[in-house]
Amino acid sequence: MSVDPFCNTDEISGTIFHKTEHFMILYDIRPVVRGHVLFIPKRHVTDLLELTGEEVGDMHRTFAHAIPKILGIYCPKEQSYDITSQIGAYSGRTVPHLHFHLLPRSKDDGYQGESSSSIYEDLKLEKTHFSRKDVDAEVYLLRKEFGYKPAPRPV
Ligand SMILES: [Zn+2]
Repeated sequence: MSVDPFCNTDEISGTIFHKTEHFMILYDIRPVVRGHVLFIPKRHVTDLLELTGEEVGDMHRTFAHAIPKILGIYCPKEQSYDITSQIGAYSGRTVPHLHFHLLPRSKDDGYQGESSSSIYEDLKLEKTHFSRKDVDAEVYLLRKEFGYKPAPRPV
């Protein structure tokens, strides 16, 4: 795996399910909860504050369009979520390309009550109890929901 998979189209093309002018959304290959996705600017930036006004506008429209859609699938009753980004060398980030984790939360997500804060620990450790097959099934579902048709791979 390269240091920056988010600049490597080959590495992420299998999990992308939505693209806008400046952003893409993909399913995390090590999801901590069901519906764990990443919002990522197409341009390589490391810090939220490097985004241009136009990119911030697109980011907001992307959030406003996609978050309700995703919550509608993964936690339609609760409509609860965490959104988090680690920025800078001491933040615990793993990939130095800006990305926002969206974590749909529900009473059955395994992180309620006393273990509620360990979701961040598992995120940092990239701990998952989902298989690649589970991930592929979610990508399939989200692509259908978002009407995303990936370009066929060149032979
Ligand atoms: Zn990058």
